[in-house]
Amino acid sequence: MFQKPTLIVDPERCRRNIRRIAEKASRHNLTFRPHFKTHQSLEIGRWFRDYPIDGITVSSTSMARYFADGGWDDITIAFPFYEGMLGELKELEKEASLRLFLHHPSHASVIDAALNNPVHAYIEIDAGYGRSGISITNRKAIDELIHSIQQSDKVSFHGFYIHDGGTYQARGTEQILDRVSDSYRALQQLKADYPEAKTSLGDTPSASVLNEFDGIDEITPGNFVFYDWMQVQIGSCSPDDVAVFASLPMAQKLSNNKAIIHGGAVHMSKDFILSGEARNYGQVMLRSGNNFSELPNTFLAALSQEHGTVTGDIQAIMDSGEPVWVCPIHSCLTANLFETYHTLEGETIEKRILS
Ligand code: PLP
Repeated sequence: MFQKPTLIVDPERCRRNIRRIAEKASRHNLTFRPHFKTHQSLEIGRWFRDYPIDGITVSSTSMARYFADGGWDDITIAFPFYEGMLGELKELEKEASLRLFLHHPSHASVIDAALNNPVHAYIEIDAGYGRSGISITNRKAIDELIHSIQQSDKVSFHGFYIHDGGTYQARGTEQILDRVSDSYRALQQLKADYPEAKTSLGDTPSASVLNEFDGIDEITPGNFVFYDWMQVQIGSCSPDDVAVFASLPMAQKLSNNKAIIHGGAVHMSKDFILSGEARNYGQVMLRSGNNFSELPNTFLAALSQEHGTVTGDIQAIMDSGEPVWVCPIHSCLTANLFETYHTLEGETIEKRILS
Protein backbone atom coordinates (compact mmCIF):
# COMPACT_ATOMS: atom_id res chain seq x y z
CA MET A 1 0.00 0.00 0.00
CA PHE A 2 1.07 3.59 -0.52
CA GLN A 3 3.69 4.89 1.93
CA LYS A 4 3.23 8.61 1.36
CA PRO A 5 0.46 10.97 0.22
CA THR A 6 -0.70 9.55 -3.10
CA LEU A 7 -3.55 10.36 -5.45
CA ILE A 8 -5.44 7.39 -6.84
CA VAL A 9 -7.55 7.44 -9.98
CA ASP A 10 -10.07 4.75 -10.84
CA PRO A 11 -9.84 4.53 -14.66
CA GLU A 12 -13.08 2.60 -14.98
CA ARG A 13 -15.16 5.20 -13.14
CA CYS A 14 -13.36 7.95 -14.98
CA ARG A 15 -14.13 6.43 -18.39
CA ARG A 16 -17.73 5.86 -17.33
CA ASN A 17 -18.05 9.55 -16.35
CA ILE A 18 -16.59 10.60 -19.69
CA ARG A 19 -18.94 8.29 -21.58
CA ARG A 20 -22.03 9.54 -19.72
CA ILE A 21 -21.45 13.22 -20.51
CA ALA A 22 -20.12 12.59 -24.04
CA GLU A 23 -23.23 10.54 -24.89
CA LYS A 24 -25.47 13.18 -23.36
CA ALA A 25 -23.81 15.83 -25.53
CA SER A 26 -24.35 13.68 -28.65
CA ARG A 27 -27.98 12.97 -27.72
CA HIS A 28 -28.70 16.68 -27.45
CA ASN A 29 -26.63 17.65 -30.53
CA LEU A 30 -24.28 19.66 -28.37
CA THR A 31 -20.72 20.45 -29.28
CA PHE A 32 -18.56 18.99 -26.51
CA ARG A 33 -15.39 20.85 -25.56
CA PRO A 34 -14.46 19.29 -22.21
CA HIS A 35 -12.32 21.34 -19.85
CA PHE A 36 -9.03 19.52 -19.32
CA LYS A 37 -7.84 21.57 -16.34
CA THR A 38 -9.30 19.03 -13.92
CA HIS A 39 -7.06 16.10 -14.93
CA GLN A 40 -4.16 17.89 -16.70
CA SER A 41 -3.13 14.55 -18.16
CA LEU A 42 -2.45 13.54 -21.77
CA GLU A 43 -3.29 9.94 -20.94
CA ILE A 44 -6.68 10.76 -19.42
CA GLY A 45 -7.23 13.13 -22.35
CA ARG A 46 -6.79 10.14 -24.66
CA TRP A 47 -9.73 8.39 -22.97
CA PHE A 48 -11.95 11.12 -24.44
CA ARG A 49 -10.87 10.10 -27.95
CA ASP A 50 -13.38 7.23 -27.86
CA TYR A 51 -16.08 9.88 -28.36
CA PRO A 52 -16.68 12.68 -30.87
CA ILE A 53 -14.89 15.54 -29.13
CA ASP A 54 -15.03 18.82 -31.03
CA GLY A 55 -12.15 20.44 -29.18
CA ILE A 56 -10.88 20.95 -25.66
CA THR A 57 -10.94 23.76 -23.15
CA VAL A 58 -8.02 24.78 -20.92
CA SER A 59 -7.29 27.59 -18.49
CA SER A 60 -3.80 28.76 -19.45
CA THR A 61 -1.51 29.01 -22.45
CA SER A 62 0.90 26.51 -20.83
CA MET A 63 -1.91 24.00 -20.49
CA ALA A 64 -2.85 24.64 -24.12
CA ARG A 65 0.77 23.97 -25.10
CA TYR A 66 0.91 20.65 -23.27
CA PHE A 67 -2.26 19.37 -24.93
CA ALA A 68 -1.37 20.80 -28.35
CA ASP A 69 1.94 18.89 -28.16
CA GLY A 70 -0.21 15.81 -27.43
CA GLY A 71 -2.14 16.25 -30.68
CA TRP A 72 -5.17 18.33 -29.64
CA ASP A 73 -5.71 20.86 -32.41
CA ASP A 74 -8.80 22.84 -31.38
CA ILE A 75 -8.22 24.54 -28.05
CA THR A 76 -10.25 27.12 -26.15
CA ILE A 77 -8.31 29.10 -23.58
CA ALA A 78 -11.16 29.83 -21.17
CA PHE A 79 -9.53 32.67 -19.32
CA PRO A 80 -9.85 36.41 -20.05
CA PHE A 81 -7.31 37.34 -22.77
CA TYR A 82 -4.37 39.53 -21.74
CA GLU A 83 -1.43 40.65 -23.84
CA GLY A 84 1.08 38.55 -21.87
CA MET A 85 -0.47 35.50 -23.56
CA LEU A 86 0.73 36.58 -27.00
CA GLY A 87 4.25 35.09 -26.78
CA GLU A 88 2.91 31.57 -26.20
CA LEU A 89 -0.01 32.09 -28.58
CA LYS A 90 2.47 32.74 -31.39
CA GLU A 91 3.87 29.25 -30.87
CA LEU A 92 0.49 27.66 -30.19
CA GLU A 93 -1.15 28.91 -33.36
CA LYS A 94 1.29 26.76 -35.35
CA GLU A 95 -0.20 23.63 -33.79
CA ALA A 96 -3.83 24.36 -32.99
CA SER A 97 -6.87 26.37 -33.92
CA LEU A 98 -7.42 28.76 -31.02
CA ARG A 99 -10.49 30.17 -29.27
CA LEU A 100 -9.94 33.08 -26.91
CA PHE A 101 -12.06 35.05 -24.44
CA LEU A 102 -11.94 38.70 -25.61
CA HIS A 103 -13.36 41.42 -23.41
CA HIS A 104 -12.07 44.73 -24.81
CA PRO A 105 -12.47 46.30 -28.28
CA SER A 106 -8.67 46.74 -28.54
CA HIS A 107 -8.04 42.98 -28.40
CA ALA A 108 -8.95 42.16 -32.00
CA SER A 109 -6.43 44.64 -33.44
CA VAL A 110 -3.75 43.52 -30.95
CA ILE A 111 -4.27 39.94 -32.14
CA ASP A 112 -4.31 41.01 -35.82
CA ALA A 113 -0.90 42.59 -35.34
CA ALA A 114 0.66 39.73 -33.37
CA LEU A 115 -0.70 36.45 -34.78
CA ASN A 116 -0.70 34.93 -38.25
CA ASN A 117 -3.63 32.51 -38.25
CA PRO A 118 -7.38 32.86 -37.72
CA VAL A 119 -8.58 32.99 -34.11
CA HIS A 120 -12.14 32.47 -32.82
CA ALA A 121 -13.46 34.81 -30.15
CA TYR A 122 -15.85 34.10 -27.33
CA ILE A 123 -17.48 36.81 -25.28
CA GLU A 124 -17.70 35.60 -21.72
CA ILE A 125 -20.85 36.68 -19.89
CA ASP A 126 -20.70 37.34 -16.14
CA ALA A 127 -22.75 34.64 -14.43
CA GLY A 128 -23.85 37.23 -11.88
CA TYR A 129 -21.20 36.97 -9.18
CA GLY A 130 -18.49 39.07 -10.78
CA ARG A 131 -15.73 36.48 -11.30
CA SER A 132 -15.20 37.36 -14.95
CA GLY A 133 -17.02 38.34 -18.10
CA ILE A 134 -19.26 41.17 -19.25
CA SER A 135 -22.70 41.72 -17.75
CA ILE A 136 -25.52 40.69 -20.10
CA THR A 137 -27.12 44.05 -19.38
CA ASN A 138 -24.08 45.87 -20.80
CA ARG A 139 -25.19 45.59 -24.43
CA LYS A 140 -23.10 48.62 -25.38
CA ALA A 141 -19.88 46.80 -24.36
CA ILE A 142 -21.02 43.60 -26.07
CA ASP A 143 -21.92 45.42 -29.30
CA GLU A 144 -18.66 47.38 -29.35
CA LEU A 145 -16.70 44.18 -28.84
CA ILE A 146 -18.56 42.39 -31.64
CA HIS A 147 -18.07 45.40 -33.90
CA SER A 148 -14.30 45.40 -33.23
CA ILE A 149 -14.17 41.69 -34.02
CA GLN A 150 -16.05 42.26 -37.28
CA GLN A 151 -13.36 44.78 -38.32
CA SER A 152 -10.60 42.23 -37.72
CA ASP A 153 -8.77 40.25 -40.42
CA LYS A 154 -7.97 37.30 -38.22
CA VAL A 155 -10.49 37.20 -35.41
CA SER A 156 -13.97 35.82 -36.05
CA PHE A 157 -16.83 35.88 -33.57
CA HIS A 158 -17.65 32.40 -32.24
CA GLY A 159 -20.22 33.16 -29.56
CA PHE A 160 -21.11 33.62 -25.90
CA TYR A 161 -19.83 31.62 -22.95
CA ILE A 162 -21.03 31.29 -19.37
CA HIS A 163 -19.43 29.25 -16.62
CA ASP A 164 -22.05 29.37 -13.90
CA GLY A 165 -20.17 28.67 -10.66
CA GLY A 166 -23.37 29.61 -8.82
CA THR A 167 -24.51 26.00 -9.27
CA TYR A 168 -21.87 25.04 -6.70
CA GLN A 169 -24.10 26.58 -3.99
CA ALA A 170 -26.98 24.26 -4.97
CA ARG A 171 -28.03 21.14 -3.07
CA GLY A 172 -30.12 18.81 -5.23
CA THR A 173 -31.28 18.81 -8.84
CA GLU A 174 -34.07 21.36 -8.30
CA GLN A 175 -31.66 23.89 -6.84
CA ILE A 176 -29.10 23.30 -9.62
CA LEU A 177 -31.80 23.93 -12.23
CA ASP A 178 -32.97 26.97 -10.33
CA ARG A 179 -29.44 28.38 -9.96
CA VAL A 180 -28.55 27.89 -13.61
CA SER A 181 -31.83 29.27 -14.93
CA ASP A 182 -30.61 32.90 -15.17
CA SER A 183 -27.52 31.84 -17.16
CA TYR A 184 -29.62 29.55 -19.32
CA ARG A 185 -32.08 32.36 -20.08
CA ALA A 186 -29.23 34.79 -20.70
CA LEU A 187 -27.75 32.46 -23.32
CA GLN A 188 -31.16 31.94 -24.93
CA GLN A 189 -31.70 35.70 -25.05
CA LEU A 190 -28.28 36.27 -26.60
CA LYS A 191 -28.97 33.56 -29.17
CA ALA A 192 -32.23 35.30 -30.09
CA ASP A 193 -30.50 38.68 -30.37
CA TYR A 194 -27.34 37.45 -32.14
CA PRO A 195 -28.49 34.41 -34.16
CA GLU A 196 -25.04 33.82 -35.68
CA ALA A 197 -23.51 33.31 -32.21
CA LYS A 198 -22.89 29.94 -30.59
CA THR A 199 -23.79 29.60 -26.91
CA SER A 200 -21.66 27.65 -24.42
CA LEU A 201 -22.38 26.55 -20.87
CA GLY A 202 -19.45 25.52 -18.72
CA ASP A 203 -20.15 23.93 -15.34
CA THR A 204 -20.31 20.32 -14.17
CA PRO A 205 -23.49 20.47 -12.02
CA SER A 206 -25.65 21.75 -14.87
CA ALA A 207 -24.02 19.48 -17.49
CA SER A 208 -24.75 16.56 -15.15
CA VAL A 209 -28.41 17.24 -14.40
CA LEU A 210 -29.85 19.33 -17.25
CA ASN A 211 -31.97 17.31 -19.65
CA GLU A 212 -32.99 20.17 -21.92
CA PHE A 213 -30.56 22.39 -23.76
CA ASP A 214 -32.80 24.63 -25.89
CA GLY A 215 -30.72 27.49 -27.21
CA ILE A 216 -27.44 26.00 -25.97
CA ASP A 217 -24.92 24.86 -28.59
CA GLU A 218 -21.95 23.67 -26.52
CA ILE A 219 -20.99 22.40 -23.11
CA THR A 220 -17.51 22.65 -21.57
CA PRO A 221 -17.55 21.00 -18.12
CA GLY A 222 -14.36 19.57 -16.62
CA ASN A 223 -14.85 18.34 -13.07
CA PHE A 224 -17.20 15.48 -14.10
CA VAL A 225 -14.18 13.44 -15.18
CA PHE A 226 -13.43 12.79 -11.49
CA TYR A 227 -16.32 14.39 -9.57
CA ASP A 228 -15.71 14.78 -5.79
CA TRP A 229 -17.40 15.03 -2.41
CA MET A 230 -18.74 18.50 -3.13
CA GLN A 231 -20.40 17.25 -6.33
CA VAL A 232 -21.97 14.42 -4.32
CA GLN A 233 -23.44 17.02 -1.92
CA ILE A 234 -24.58 19.21 -4.82
CA GLY A 235 -26.33 16.22 -6.36
CA SER A 236 -24.38 16.17 -9.63
CA CYS A 237 -23.32 12.56 -9.13
CA SER A 238 -23.55 9.60 -6.78
CA PRO A 239 -20.68 8.58 -4.44
CA ASP A 240 -19.98 5.67 -6.80
CA ASP A 241 -19.11 8.10 -9.61
CA VAL A 242 -16.21 9.69 -7.74
CA ALA A 243 -13.02 8.55 -9.47
CA VAL A 244 -10.26 10.10 -7.38
CA PHE A 245 -9.17 9.46 -3.79
CA ALA A 246 -6.15 10.48 -1.74
CA SER A 247 -4.29 7.85 0.25
CA LEU A 248 -2.82 9.67 3.28
CA PRO A 249 -0.67 8.04 5.99
CA MET A 250 -1.90 8.16 9.59
CA ALA A 251 0.92 9.81 11.55
CA GLN A 252 -0.29 10.17 15.14
CA LYS A 253 -3.38 8.88 16.88
CA LEU A 254 -4.35 11.50 19.47
CA SER A 255 -7.47 9.80 20.83
CA ASN A 256 -10.23 7.47 19.68
CA ASN A 257 -11.74 10.32 17.71
CA LYS A 258 -8.79 12.41 16.63
CA ALA A 259 -5.65 11.72 14.59
CA ILE A 260 -3.00 13.64 12.69
CA ILE A 261 -2.40 12.51 9.14
CA HIS A 262 0.14 13.39 6.48
CA GLY A 263 -2.32 15.32 4.37
CA GLY A 264 -2.63 19.08 4.56
CA ALA A 265 -3.50 22.00 2.34
CA VAL A 266 -0.55 21.21 0.02
CA HIS A 267 -2.20 17.87 -0.75
CA MET A 268 -5.94 18.47 -0.56
CA SER A 269 -6.27 22.29 -1.06
CA LYS A 270 -8.27 24.35 1.41
CA ASP A 271 -11.69 23.94 -0.14
CA PHE A 272 -14.27 22.68 2.33
CA ILE A 273 -17.95 21.99 2.73
CA LEU A 274 -19.88 22.39 5.96
CA SER A 275 -20.84 19.27 7.94
CA GLY A 276 -23.29 20.94 10.31
CA GLU A 277 -21.20 23.71 11.86
CA ALA A 278 -17.88 21.97 11.17
CA ARG A 279 -15.66 22.42 8.14
CA ASN A 280 -15.08 19.23 6.16
CA TYR A 281 -11.86 19.44 4.08
CA GLY A 282 -12.08 15.83 2.91
CA GLN A 283 -14.43 12.91 3.54
CA VAL A 284 -12.84 9.78 5.01
CA MET A 285 -13.77 6.60 3.14
CA LEU A 286 -13.23 2.91 3.80
CA ARG A 287 -11.94 0.85 0.88
CA SER A 288 -12.98 -2.64 -0.05
CA GLY A 289 -11.24 -3.66 -3.28
CA ASN A 290 -12.13 -0.96 -5.79
CA ASN A 291 -15.10 0.27 -3.80
CA PHE A 292 -15.06 3.15 -1.39
CA SER A 293 -17.77 3.82 1.15
CA GLU A 294 -18.27 6.82 3.40
CA LEU A 295 -17.09 6.41 7.00
CA PRO A 296 -19.88 8.40 8.66
CA ASN A 297 -19.02 11.50 10.68
CA THR A 298 -15.32 11.06 9.96
CA PHE A 299 -13.56 13.74 7.98
CA LEU A 300 -10.60 16.05 7.67
CA ALA A 301 -11.68 18.72 10.12
CA ALA A 302 -8.59 20.96 10.13
CA LEU A 303 -5.62 21.55 7.86
CA SER A 304 -2.31 23.28 8.06
CA GLN A 305 0.28 23.17 5.32
CA GLU A 306 1.19 19.45 5.55
CA HIS A 307 -0.79 18.29 8.61
CA GLY A 308 -4.39 17.22 8.58
CA THR A 309 -6.58 16.54 11.62
CA VAL A 310 -9.12 13.79 11.16
CA THR A 311 -12.00 13.63 13.61
CA GLY A 312 -14.46 10.76 13.94
CA ASP A 313 -14.12 6.99 14.01
CA ILE A 314 -10.33 6.63 14.21
CA GLN A 315 -10.63 3.04 15.42
CA ALA A 316 -12.46 2.00 12.23
CA ILE A 317 -9.60 3.43 10.18
CA MET A 318 -7.02 1.60 12.34
CA ASP A 319 -9.02 -1.64 12.06
CA SER A 320 -9.03 -1.38 8.25
CA GLY A 321 -5.24 -1.73 8.24
CA GLU A 322 -5.17 0.82 5.42
CA PRO A 323 -3.92 4.38 5.06
CA VAL A 324 -6.53 7.06 5.51
CA TRP A 325 -8.56 7.25 2.30
CA VAL A 326 -9.92 10.73 1.70
CA CYS A 327 -12.39 11.77 -0.96
CA PRO A 328 -11.40 15.28 -2.07
CA ILE A 329 -13.86 18.12 -1.59
CA HIS A 330 -12.82 19.76 -4.88
CA SER A 331 -10.97 17.31 -7.11
CA CYS A 332 -9.77 19.97 -9.60
CA LEU A 333 -7.74 21.65 -6.85
CA THR A 334 -6.53 18.39 -5.27
CA ALA A 335 -5.47 16.94 -8.64
CA ASN A 336 -3.60 20.15 -9.38
CA LEU A 337 -1.41 19.56 -6.31
CA PHE A 338 -0.13 16.08 -7.24
CA GLU A 339 2.54 15.36 -9.83
CA THR A 340 1.21 11.94 -10.90
CA TYR A 341 -1.82 9.73 -10.52
CA HIS A 342 -1.62 6.09 -9.45
CA THR A 343 -4.13 3.31 -9.86
CA LEU A 344 -4.97 0.57 -7.37
CA GLU A 345 -3.58 -1.86 -9.95
CA GLY A 346 -0.13 -0.30 -9.52
CA GLU A 347 -0.01 1.79 -12.69
CA THR A 348 1.17 5.37 -12.93
CA ILE A 349 -0.72 7.91 -15.00
CA GLU A 350 1.34 10.87 -16.15
CA LYS A 351 0.03 14.34 -15.56
CA ARG A 352 1.32 17.90 -15.33
CA ILE A 353 0.72 20.89 -13.13
CA LEU A 354 0.03 23.64 -15.62
CA SER A 355 -2.33 26.07 -14.01
N1 PLP B 1 -15.26 26.92 -18.02
C1 PLP B 1 -14.65 27.83 -17.24
C2 PLP B 1 -14.39 29.20 -17.79
C3 PLP B 1 -14.27 27.50 -15.93
O1 PLP B 1 -13.65 28.43 -15.18
C4 PLP B 1 -14.52 26.20 -15.45
C5 PLP B 1 -14.16 25.84 -14.09
O2 PLP B 1 -13.89 26.63 -13.23
C6 PLP B 1 -15.14 25.27 -16.31
C7 PLP B 1 -15.50 25.67 -17.58
C8 PLP B 1 -15.44 23.86 -15.87
O3 PLP B 1 -16.39 23.87 -14.85
P1 PLP B 1 -16.51 22.65 -13.82
O4 PLP B 1 -15.28 22.70 -12.98
O5 PLP B 1 -17.76 22.94 -13.05
O6 PLP B 1 -16.58 21.41 -14.61
